[in-house]
Amino acid sequence: MTQITNKELIQKAKEVVKLHKCSEDVRIGDVGCALVTDDDKLYLGVSIHACCGVGFCAEHSAIASMVLEQKYKIKKIVAVSGDGTVLPPCGRCRELMYEINEENYETEIIIDNNKSVKLRDLLPEIWQKKFY
Ligand SMILES: [Zn+2]
Repeated sequence: MTQITNKELIQKAKEVVKLHKCSEDVRIGDVGCALVTDDDKLYLGVSIHACCGVGFCAEHSAIASMVLEQKYKIKKIVAVSGDGTVLPPCGRCRELMYEINEENYETEIIIDNNKSVKLRDLLPEIWQKKFY
């Protein structure tokens, strides 16, 4: 199986970025996300934001698609805004990736066109289970 390159993964995320509105109060697709699992399956997602504050990131959306197929290990992931800028994941998404599977601490996070880091670099202090 051919592995998807970072450039190709960025392109996949760009392909789903398309702002549209399903109502006056909801913005869909400001950000797009593409991820590949440890078995090289591709999952895509878009952000959804409602004016009342409810919504989620494109990474959440892609992860939700992934878990529908009982996949939990992310090999690499990228999020892209409407102008094509590669975005690092927010803190909530970093924690979500880790909690979905602790092995995702080694996930490659593409944070710029020519730069990627491990999740462990972006999340040096994980939220400890002892807090809940
Ligand atoms: Zn996020």
